[in-house]
Amino acid sequence: MAPQDSSPAELIDQFGRRVDYIRLSITDRCDFRCVYCMGEDMTFLPREEVLTLEECERLVRVFVGLGVQKVRITGGEPLVRKNALWLFEQVGKLPGLRELVLTTNGSQLDHQALPLKEAGVSRINISLDSLDAERFRKITRVGDINKVLRGIDAAKAAGIARIRLNSVLMRGFNDDEAVALTQFAVDKGIDIAFIEEMPLGQVDHNRESSCVTSDETLGVLQQHFRLVSSAETTGGPARYWRIPDTETRVGFISPHSHNFCESCNRVRITCKGELFLCLGQEDVVDLMPLLREYPNDDAPIREAIVNAMKIKPKGHDFDLRRAEPAVVRFMSVTGG
Ligand code: SAM
Ligand code: SF4
Repeated sequence: MAPQDSSPAELIDQFGRRVDYIRLSITDRCDFRCVYCMGEDMTFLPREEVLTLEECERLVRVFVGLGVQKVRITGGEPLVRKNALWLFEQVGKLPGLRELVLTTNGSQLDHQALPLKEAGVSRINISLDSLDAERFRKITRVGDINKVLRGIDAAKAAGIARIRLNSVLMRGFNDDEAVALTQFAVDKGIDIAFIEEMPLGQVDHNRESSCVTSDETLGVLQQHFRLVSSAETTGGPARYWRIPDTETRVGFISPHSHNFCESCNRVRITCKGELFLCLGQEDVVDLMPLLREYPNDDAPIREAIVNAMKIKPKGHDFDLRRAEPAVVRFMSVTGG
């Protein structure tokens, strides 16, 4: 008989915030090397240190059993993981899950968008930092923009309900593209969010001088578009503006200028099975040993997750003026 389990059916942290959203990174690998996200030479984890797809499915199932309603699969680049689609298919079937969403660089979407939609993916965030092929290559170091553009069209054609571009503007790289990227989103009938660069991991450029704030970008866009502030939320940290008479919402994710921690409803799980309670802090619970020690009993994992809520920090404290990155791990490790 399975051991009795008295854990609650929802996750509430020490500040009364309900956690109903998880972001799961299924790989630290990527086919791009974006300058703000990775170093040029990355050493990736050996396979045995990465959760198997079955372990990923099991973890998501346990979280959904604890009241999690939204799951974002991310990475690294999630779609470069072999058989990733299998995981989407399994997670898409979980009773109780309301939303299965994906963050991707778009490079594999031209052939994967339709099966992902069929697996139950309702929204996709696609990173796009430049519309210029040469610049795109410079920022991603290796990426082919045409593949990504084909991927965006494939996601639209597959009927993904909401598609959002994610753009990180960096001074001296692509800070003059806010208007062009937004116009591109308008023309495609999709959303766009501008993400302020965060000090995650050591990179080759100075983040303090490269970071373009949301307020700056908003000011530039307001000179070209009529933007109407919107109270809408997609359950994430973005603040949205609408462009009237278009399908497009413009979001701003502003960890520096606007603190979004108060309403934080999410936790992150790395591809190593580490449960990070905050993107910008080191508080972590390692779930991999429990997954492997108790292959047939979810109770210890559930208990560890419930207990982890007691150490979810109040908020991050990103400060670009610090010489050291706020946290040493890259976003590709923690999952964006
Ligand atoms: N590979 C996928 C992608 O690029 O969308 C998913 C993972 S990526 C880590 C998720 C998001 O994090 C991307 O939109 C990327 O632009 C963003 N990102 C990565 N490093 C960042 C940083 N240091 N500051 C802000 N955003 C970052
Ligand atoms: Fe890869 Fe995404 Fe990081 Fe770019 S942002 S290097 S695409 S994980």
